[in-house]
Amino acid sequence: MKIQTAPQPTLRTLNKPQSPPPPAPIQDTVEIERATPMQKAIAYTGVACTAATVAGLIHGGAFASVGSGLAMAGAMVGSYVLADISTGLVHHFLDNVRPDFLPKWMQRHAHDFQNHHDHPRDVVHREFANHTAGTQVFTTPMLAALAATSWTLPALAPLTAGLTVFANCANLAQEFHRRAHMSDAENGPVIKTAQKVGLMVPKKLHAAHHGTGHNSKYALLNGITNKVLDDFEFRLTPNGPKTNLLRKMEVGLYKLQGSDPNAWTETPGLKERALTGK
Ligand SMILES: [Zn+2]
Ligand SMILES: [Zn+2]
Repeated sequence: MKIQTAPQPTLRTLNKPQSPPPPAPIQDTVEIERATPMQKAIAYTGVACTAATVAGLIHGGAFASVGSGLAMAGAMVGSYVLADISTGLVHHFLDNVRPDFLPKWMQRHAHDFQNHHDHPRDVVHREFANHTAGTQVFTTPMLAALAATSWTLPALAPLTAGLTVFANCANLAQEFHRRAHMSDAENGPVIKTAQKVGLMVPKKLHAAHHGTGHNSKYALLNGITNKVLDDFEFRLTPNGPKTNLLRKMEVGLYKLQGSDPNAWTETPGLKERALTGK
């Protein structure tokens, strides 16, 4: 075994004025979580099915005319936006639900999301296939079915493309979230630019979720639908409270599970706001 030792200080180095110590490295709370061979196989299958879908769509003439190309682009962009708001809703649910209220297979996910608030760097050292395994068990079979559809039912091309984007975004949202917790040096210039232009959820935007009692900024893919989730307030009944969808979901959880959602415990006054609109 090769043993490395620190260089011995010479008289010259001992007399040299000491330079300030380098900044302390970012402290992580967990060790690297590797993907299992099965998790990797599921992830690679999802990528292969996506490639097969793209080939099937091109082969079926989905981009053959300007009109069909526009329909495809509309379906894909629409899915990208829809996926963002969906990540916000799932994230809100898992952050706020009482884990023991859920079926066993979902409890781990709720614990994981809620533990992340105390250990935000935990997601950084997870391999992609490990980090996204809980989603990929659903998206990979879906992507396989879509690959088959792309080759057999060309008339459904926009729907096939939209659902393929949606399934991939469900996985990518977790990677984009992970990247929002990494430093610029760890991310590199390409990711940094994607975050800056809003293709990936910007770091500052996600930091606001963690820094304000976890009561807003839930969308994790690119964050553009946070405006809708946070700012769009409405009433369900003429005399009901005028609040946003997140507050309404919290009231629903409160009634179903019989205890306060986590956002209410963390944010003074949020319970009253959700229940009364004031
Ligand atoms: Zn959260
Ligand atoms: Zn986070």
